[in-house]
Amino acid sequence: MTATIIDGKLLAEKWKEKLKNYVAEEKIVPAISVIMVGNDSASQVYVRNKLMACERVGIVCKLHTFPEDIEEKDLLRLLYDLNSDDKINGILVQMPLPPHIDAAKVTDAIDPDKDIDGFHSYNLGRLYAGRPHLISCTPMGIVHLIKSVADIAGKNAVVIGRSLIVGRPVAAMLVNENATVTIAHSKTVNLPEVASNADILVSATGRAGIVTAEYVKKGAVVIDVGITRGKDGKLTGDVAFDEVKSVAGAITPVPGGVGPMTIAMLMYNAVKACLLQNGKKMTI
Ligand code: NAD
Repeated sequence: MTATIIDGKLLAEKWKEKLKNYVAEEKIVPAISVIMVGNDSASQVYVRNKLMACERVGIVCKLHTFPEDIEEKDLLRLLYDLNSDDKINGILVQMPLPPHIDAAKVTDAIDPDKDIDGFHSYNLGRLYAGRPHLISCTPMGIVHLIKSVADIAGKNAVVIGRSLIVGRPVAAMLVNENATVTIAHSKTVNLPEVASNADILVSATGRAGIVTAEYVKKGAVVIDVGITRGKDGKLTGDVAFDEVKSVAGAITPVPGGVGPMTIAMLMYNAVKACLLQNGKKMTI
């Protein structure tokens, strides 16, 4: 058996096309601010991809770049200004930030209504309460990728990783979709056995190739969130793709799986935030 390869690039293109048409129908021009501190090369690639996606969908994107040594208070001041700027619908601070800046404080300084990354404690709380507002982009993308090949309700889902930006919110989304969810992490005992109970296995550890065939139930849907950049610049996921694809029912590749959907869902949140701020509802 060979697994279906879930094409995240194609699904992301479909979403961007749908959002572009929706923005035109609604006669809105969403505007977002993207803030980047320092010159981390991976962050530069991510920001460039976000700018390109905005252009494709019809979202105005203002890029604010700052040197590595910007003071936290200056970054917070900018966020307060953007929060009260009616012309800006969404705000995103590209992570990681330099160690002298408290990333959690910065995240929670963004107006939750403009928090298009969905990282604010308010938005995480709303997701866990089952009353989501703006949902973080990677988890939203993951749920769409799963739904493109399988139903979620009633399935056993195992999420490996418990971070606030992937593991926990994706687990909450899967619970909201009526899956039975286990969150595994670095202290989980006998991880292969835990993981191999999953009909849906999501791995978000950043440990290249840890998910081998023994972690995977026959026919399971395997979503690989991990990204490890090799010395040669090549990206590798958490999943040992070649051996797992002969056990799984469906699998996302790295690159070309979760990554493109994350950006498409950022566009979704930008459009949603703009509509909400104009007293309208997102209907797609
Ligand atoms: P993180 O470092 O904050 O969290 C990693 C989690 O994995 C932790 O909860 C830890 O307990 C768990 N973990 C680590 N080693 C483990 C092991 N050996 N066994 C079991 N669990 C283990 O990372 P993050 O921010 O959640 O990101 C995870 C990965 O996903 C990274 O590679 C990151 O680059 C990638 N990522 C990709 C996208 C995308 O759009 N494709 C978005 C966000 C993150």
